[in-house]
Amino acid sequence: MMLPSFLKNLIPNFKIIDLKEWKTKGRIDIYLEKKKNSPENTCCRCGSKLHGSRGKHRLMLEHMPIFNFKVYLHLWREKGHCKTCNKARSETFDFIADETPHLTKEYSWWLGKLCEMSAVKKVSELTGVDNMTLHRLDFSRLKKLVQHYKIPDLKRISVDEVYGRSKKYHAKESRDKQFFTVICDLDSRRVVWVTESRDKKALDEFFNILGKERCEKIEVVAMDQHDPYRASVRDNCKNADVVWDRFHLVQSFENALNEERKDLHSDAPKGSDLKYSACGTFRFLFLKKAKDRTKSEAKHIEQVAKENKLFFYLELIKEKFIHIFNERNEMDALWELSELEEWIMSCQFENLKKWFKHFMDNWNTIKNYFVHRVTSSLSEGQNNSIKALKRRGFGYRNMAYFKLKILQVCGFLNCRYVGINDY
Ligand SMILES: [Zn+2]
Repeated sequence: MMLPSFLKNLIPNFKIIDLKEWKTKGRIDIYLEKKKNSPENTCCRCGSKLHGSRGKHRLMLEHMPIFNFKVYLHLWREKGHCKTCNKARSETFDFIADETPHLTKEYSWWLGKLCEMSAVKKVSELTGVDNMTLHRLDFSRLKKLVQHYKIPDLKRISVDEVYGRSKKYHAKESRDKQFFTVICDLDSRRVVWVTESRDKKALDEFFNILGKERCEKIEVVAMDQHDPYRASVRDNCKNADVVWDRFHLVQSFENALNEERKDLHSDAPKGSDLKYSACGTFRFLFLKKAKDRTKSEAKHIEQVAKENKLFFYLELIKEKFIHIFNERNEMDALWELSELEEWIMSCQFENLKKWFKHFMDNWNTIKNYFVHRVTSSLSEGQNNSIKALKRRGFGYRNMAYFKLKILQVCGFLNCRYVGINDY
């Protein structure tokens, strides 16, 4: 029989003796036989030599499809006596998938690759492999990959929480437990680890896995203002600076600013223009950066500022604060802040006063931004991917699976970083 060359070395040490093609069934059956001079059989459990023959059994494996035909390999698997195990054992076949005895390794790796890109259900529709089988295959493949996974050396990381599940496991479970803590490497821009819950213990767990020595190499940890995380970093990484995300800081400022606008609006005399022009659709205008406003918007603000001096000051304070993060260093920023304080004090803005006090109380953390200039925006971006992943699978019931899936899609647990032979 003339065989195409790609079929000749389908499986090492085996030769094809027959090939049947079923056009109506859409399948090809390939019958294989062991070559005469192949190496001796070894035990599939311990790898030592097998003695004598204890019979054999038939094996049918699904392999990579050829064109539109499903391919099945038929061969015999021999048994022999293993002296180490003191038992009859089957011979080693390293081309069988570890996850299931019905697929070849190559085919199961290819299916796993598809599961990285798309929802398991869609892969099942495409390939005709059963949905549950695929799910099990994907899960056990990930579990195996994570055993060999080593968290890379880290210097600058960002930490954030992601909402994982809405269902509570028991009635008294705290809300924190429904979140994941996601740790990203700011240099490789990948997720390096995921732990359940968002309390201090969750981050402690990560630092424990990392080990004391490697924790000390971490220089920067970017995060939002979530106190348990800060406490954990303080306890575990003595050389790390915490950097708060500037967007969250601006957000808290904007909240205070908005409160101020509301107060000014309610103080305005009845029937005046301000009652109309400082609220409703215009309320977001006051938070917008001056350079982002359109011409008519700028005119509107100008009008309001003319009418009421305090709105003018509010506008000045906002512009000043936004520019503080562009200052070259901590000293310049502090100088600007002292000026800002003067303005707030002289205008008697109560909400902003409160906000400013809180801001300065945390200055020791905030000033780190001017040294490292990192934000947790990467985490926020990864959050988006995680949300998309969740929607793709219509939510995950199995949290361990979901965790691994995050590492697969946003991290290193995929075939871009791991090859078929090194897992
Ligand atoms: Zn053995």
